[in-house]
Amino acid sequence: MPREEQLELGLDQAHLPALLMAIVHLEGNASVLDDFPRPLYDFFADGRLGGYNDEQQAKIRERAKRAIENYLVSGETLPPPPSADTVRRMMDFVAGADIPAHYVPFMEEELGLSGADAKHPHWEEPKLIARRKDMHVVVVGAGMSGILSAIRLKQAGIAFDVIEKNADVGGTWFENTYPGCRVDNPNHMYSFSFEPNHDWPYHYSTQDVLLAYFRRTADKYDLRKNIRFETQVTEARFDEKTSKWHVKVKDKSGKEEIIVADAVISAVGQLNQPRIPDIKGVETFKGPAFHSAQWRHDIDLKGKNVGVIGTGASAFQFVPEIAPDVRELKVFQRTPPWLGPTPDYHDKVGEGKKWLLEHVPFYGKWYRFWLFWMLTDGIYEFVKTDPTWNGPQNAVSPNNALLREMLSAAIKPQTDDAPWLFDKIIPDYPFGGKRSLRDNGVWVSALKRPNVELVTDPIAEIDAKGVKTKDGRHIDLDVLIYGTGFHASNFLRTFKVIGRGGVELHERWNGDARAYLGMTVPGFPNFFMIYGPNTNIVVNGSIIFFSECSVRYIMGCLRLLAETGNATLEPREEVHDRFNEKVDEANKMMAWGAPQVTSWYKNAKGRVSQNWPFPLVEYWSATLKPNPQDFELRKTG
Ligand SMILES: Cc1cc2nc3c(=O)[nH]c(=O)nc-3n(C[C@H](O)[C@H](O)[C@H](O)COP(=O)(O)OP(=O)(O)OC[C@H]3O[C@@H](n4cnc5c(N)ncnc54)[C@H](O)[C@@H]3O)c2cc1C
Repeated sequence: MPREEQLELGLDQAHLPALLMAIVHLEGNASVLDDFPRPLYDFFADGRLGGYNDEQQAKIRERAKRAIENYLVSGETLPPPPSADTVRRMMDFVAGADIPAHYVPFMEEELGLSGADAKHPHWEEPKLIARRKDMHVVVVGAGMSGILSAIRLKQAGIAFDVIEKNADVGGTWFENTYPGCRVDNPNHMYSFSFEPNHDWPYHYSTQDVLLAYFRRTADKYDLRKNIRFETQVTEARFDEKTSKWHVKVKDKSGKEEIIVADAVISAVGQLNQPRIPDIKGVETFKGPAFHSAQWRHDIDLKGKNVGVIGTGASAFQFVPEIAPDVRELKVFQRTPPWLGPTPDYHDKVGEGKKWLLEHVPFYGKWYRFWLFWMLTDGIYEFVKTDPTWNGPQNAVSPNNALLREMLSAAIKPQTDDAPWLFDKIIPDYPFGGKRSLRDNGVWVSALKRPNVELVTDPIAEIDAKGVKTKDGRHIDLDVLIYGTGFHASNFLRTFKVIGRGGVELHERWNGDARAYLGMTVPGFPNFFMIYGPNTNIVVNGSIIFFSECSVRYIMGCLRLLAETGNATLEPREEVHDRFNEKVDEANKMMAWGAPQVTSWYKNAKGRVSQNWPFPLVEYWSATLKPNPQDFELRKTG
């Protein structure tokens, strides 16, 4: 397509607030911020038009066209960059609100206008270069977090091995191959900050696309030669005499080996140990039965009577995919998910938008910034408990109640032709109690199909032929699919970790995993976790953000060892405890911590062990670098 046409298409598909920011860079002044009002965003729309009327839209496109054409004919030269004050104004402008001052450094880093990779470890001082030769790190897992750790270790020049039980990288995105599997965060944000992809085919890409992205990234950084695939870590044991970790690995032939390391980074994820519910008779079903994360592609569902247990994130994605093929589909629901209107959930990214991302300087940066701001801490206040709230238990604050009303009203039209469904699909728990799902109408459409039934009577038992509900009904089934999630609160379930004094980590935790900043535990020197306890999020943000912050901090801990000449570090018990007390107090004040909410975010002890209860900016600032006062540093032992 000729460039003029691509430009026209791009302008037509542009996110106008991001385009206005690109104009500032292209024109070399901020007059556009005075010529147009700040955008206004509709809570449930994609924000693309920024609330501008037709005339304003036309003017913005016209102005952008001129600026982009000038830039292209000038041989792609740019005027001097905007000043720090102007950037600050631009941030407020594109957010459509004044960004609080304490967010500014955080948001500036996310925006990354300089193009530098802000979290690059930069081990360039001679002392670090000398010390890193003596370091060897084992990373457990080659999912997103393991790849990220490997990249940073490599950039720092530290020797490492990654041990991965699967045959390839990707973790979540390698294992979950169920029909319809896709990411729930917009991809222009669910990607490494230092590896943008202007070519995402969908706003929310499918599993194969994500797997390809992580494979490509592993290849680009040439990581495969450091990864041992189809090998599992079964145990990591700290040797106090040598201050080394002895990591026991087992390959697929059963051969065991010990790798000696100075530090261990666990990147084993939270969501990859499929959970089959403890229902009476669960093992007696005679037909094929499988978990969504272990999809049986060899089983043809066409013309079969299929039962799906669970209506969480995975079932929500695969039910609409399989419904047209099966004979009858019974969807067994315990609690419904909240649905957040997302009209573009399955939409492709237009070619014009891709062209802008690729060719117009800073457009992509501001687009990502906008996504980041709107989809992260922007919603935090709506899921916080107001201690003075004395309204119904289905909300935790006036804001939360308002959101309930707005979301219910948005869902209602979908059930106008099936009014019996409405009450079944509106949760009775507050919004934010569990992860909400992205709705473009396909879920309710699937439930309304004549061959689909949403069964809300609780399951009493499973037998050889199907499922019996508590009201005595027996439902015959050919295939049973579990969309029942993961052993999420059983952290690091796949291997034993033995620290100082022979203490095993799971025994210390006793079913209640805790760590300092989700990463370190007293008595487990130089042992670090990514996506560890209390680093999951319910409504605000992507796990990649957390992993990037965690890995920066872990690299900071290794740097601290190298700089001080110490052999080990571990958090002080009181620092760890104080942190966890703060987390627990804060979690109690969030919708997911409310006493009336039960979910996988709470462990068997009823404590929220999964979630970060503060705004993202607080994780970002807490993990910029380790505070030496928080740790016990030792030369030996
Ligand atoms: C279906 C699904 C959809 C999701 N959607 C989103 C989303 O939209 N947004 C979001 O932010 N997050 C989402 N998540 C969460 C997702 O898990 C994270 O975003 C991210 O992929 C986690 O990466 P990770 O590397 O930390 O863990 P994982 O991807 O789980 O990778 C862990 C790796 O460790 C390996 N491993 C485990 N134990 C061992 C062992 N003992 N020895 C060797 N290897 C081991 C595993 O094989 C795996 O490869 C989703 C999760 C699922 C399951």
